[in-house]
Amino acid sequence: MLCSKCNQSAEVLTDGGLCENCYLEAEEHRSEIIQLARQEHEKEGRIEIDDNAKLSEGNDNGCYVQAWVWVGFAETTFDKEKNHD
Ligand SMILES: [Zn+2]
Repeated sequence: MLCSKCNQSAEVLTDGGLCENCYLEAEEHRSEIIQLARQEHEKEGRIEIDDNAKLSEGNDNGCYVQAWVWVGFAETTFDKEKNHD
């Protein structure tokens, strides 16, 4: 089997079709970008980014990182602390 990135033959390929070296390299790249995203955007309890967040990376000078944004229910129809009497 051939790695989809480096085209070297490998005994075992990951789900993404990568050899072990390319996979480790890609994982390192991914976790560095996630750290960068956290530095730029993470606010405790407001914007959170998982360790396994997905990236959407194209040719632009940056990329999208999957994140969780908090939605408050206070004063809305979803308010759980409202009296229901
Ligand atoms: Zn490879």
